[in-house]
Amino acid sequence: MARYIFITGGVVSSLGKGLASAALGALLQARGFSVRLRKLDPYLNVDPGTMSPFEHGEVFVTDDGAETDLDLGHYERFTGVHARNTDSVSSGRIYSTVLEKERRGDYLGKTIQVVPHVTNEIKDFLHIGDDEVDFMLCEIGGTVGDIEGLPFFEAIRQFSHDKPRGQCIFMHLTLLPYLAASGELKTKPTQHSVKELQSIGIAPDVLVCRSEHPIPDRELEKIALFCNVRKNCVVPAYDLKSIYEAPLAYHEQGLDQAVLDAFDISPAPMPKLDVWHDVYDRIHNPEGNVKIAIVGKYTQLEDAYKSIAEALTHGGMANRVKVKIEWVDAEVFDKGDAAPYLQGFHAILVPGGFGERGTEGKIKAAQYARENKVPYLGICLGMQMAVVEAARNVAGMKDAGSEEFDHEAGKKRFEPVVYHLKEWVQGNHAVTRSTGDDKGGTMRLGAYDATLVDGSKVAEVYGTTHIEERHRHRYEVDTKYREKLEECGLTFSGMSPDGKLPEIVEWKDHPWFIGVQFHPELKSKPFAPHPLFEGFVKAAVENSRLV
Ligand code: GLN
Repeated sequence: MARYIFITGGVVSSLGKGLASAALGALLQARGFSVRLRKLDPYLNVDPGTMSPFEHGEVFVTDDGAETDLDLGHYERFTGVHARNTDSVSSGRIYSTVLEKERRGDYLGKTIQVVPHVTNEIKDFLHIGDDEVDFMLCEIGGTVGDIEGLPFFEAIRQFSHDKPRGQCIFMHLTLLPYLAASGELKTKPTQHSVKELQSIGIAPDVLVCRSEHPIPDRELEKIALFCNVRKNCVVPAYDLKSIYEAPLAYHEQGLDQAVLDAFDISPAPMPKLDVWHDVYDRIHNPEGNVKIAIVGKYTQLEDAYKSIAEALTHGGMANRVKVKIEWVDAEVFDKGDAAPYLQGFHAILVPGGFGERGTEGKIKAAQYARENKVPYLGICLGMQMAVVEAARNVAGMKDAGSEEFDHEAGKKRFEPVVYHLKEWVQGNHAVTRSTGDDKGGTMRLGAYDATLVDGSKVAEVYGTTHIEERHRHRYEVDTKYREKLEECGLTFSGMSPDGKLPEIVEWKDHPWFIGVQFHPELKSKPFAPHPLFEGFVKAAVENSRLV
C-alpha cells in the first residue's frame, strides 16, 4: 500500500506547492521509489475545461482525455509519470458525484452531509490505485482557511486517521515575509497558518518555508519550536533562477531526507541525481540564444501557455541554447501588416486557442513565416490557421476559413477548410457528438495515434512513422481540400490511422514549417525534450546564423 504525502499551503497562494510536490516526486524517484502525484482542487467547476485561460492558466490534458489543472503538467515534467483522469479532482466533481448518487437513491434515504458523504467521496478518490506505487503525493489546491477547501482538509485528516500510524504525512508550505525596515524575516504568519491547520486536526510533519532571504538558523529553530515540527523538517525554499533547479535545491535543503525521516524510512537509499545535474548544466551554460515569437491571444497571462513555454525551454536545453520567448498579441496586426511585429525573430510559434478573435493575425503570422522562410510551428489552432492561410493565399480560395468562426458569428461567411467534427474513431470505437452538446467535454480529447508519411520532415523529426499525441479540439482540417492543397505544396504528412483526420501539415519548400493538430508541448520533459520542440529550436538556431 502506498505511503501518502499530503501537501497543503498557507499564508498566501502561489507559493509553488505544485512545483515543490513535483520536485519531491522527482527526488523520491531518484531514491528508487515509484510515485504518483494528484491534485485536489477546491473550486466548484467540475473540471478546468471550461475555465478561461486568462483566469486559470492552461488546461492540461492527460492521455486518457481528462482536462486538468496545469499543476499536473509540472508533475509530469518532473517525474515523467503520465497523469490520469483519476489524478485530478475538484469540489465540483465530488459534489456532482454525491448528488448523482443521491438522485439514484444510493444513500437509501439518508440525509446527505459534507461529513461523511462528501468526505467519503474524497477518501474513495484518494484510494484509487494505492497499491500501484510507493508514494502517493496529494496536493490540496488553495490555502488553509479557504471555505471551499474545508471538506478536503477534513477528508485528509480522516484518511490519515483511518490508516496505520506512519502511513501518511503532511507537508505544509508557507511564506516568511521580509520586513525591509527592520531587516527581519517574520515567522508569525507561518505560526498562524500552522495553528489554523492544527485547529482542523492536522499537525504538519514537514514545513517548507519560502523566503526571498536566507533564513537564519535561530529562525528555523523558532519555527520548529512554535509550530511543533522537528528542526530538520523545517526546510527553507529560496527563489530559483529556473524551476528545473528545484529538485537539486530541495535536496540540498534536505526536503527528501526530512520526508523519509518523517516516515521513519531508514536507512534511506542514496539518491541518483545525474539527470538533474545534467538539466542544471544545460539551463545554466547555454552556448547561444534564439528569439522566438509566440503569436497568441492569451498573451497577458503566461500561464495560459505554460507547457509551450516549458517545451521551448526543453528544446533550448537539447540544443544548448537559451530560448528567449516574446509574447506577441495576434490582434495587434489583425488588420495591418505583420512584418514590423515579426521581423527579427528566429522562429514563430502559433499556439492553440478558441474563438475568432486574433485569428486574422495568426493567419498573417503563418503567411509571414511561409513567405520569409522563418521556422514555424503551428499547434492546434495554429495548424488550422496555417491551412486557412495556404487555402486563401496559395490555393486561391479567397473565402477559406474555419466553421468555428461561422458558428460563433451565427452566419455563414467562410468556405470551411476547417470544419466541425461530429464523428470519429478512437482506437476501435466510434465516437459521435451532436452540435448542441454542452460546452464542457465535447472535444476530441486525449491520446490518439497518427501515421506519418515516410520521408516527410516530420517523420525525420520524430525518427519514426508512428506516433501518439494528445488532443483537445472540436474542429478538424477537412480532407476534401487535401488534393488541392497538396498540389500547392502543403503536404498532409500525418494522418489518423484510418486516414480520415489530418494530424500534421508541412510546407514542402520551406526549411521548417510544421502544423500539428495535437499538443506536443504536453509531453515534453526537461530530461526528454519533445522531438518537435527540439527540431523547431534547432531550425531557429540555424535561421539565427543566416540573419
Ligand atoms: N478552436 C480550435 C478547435 O476547437 C482549436 C483548439 C485548440 O487550439 N486547442 O478545433
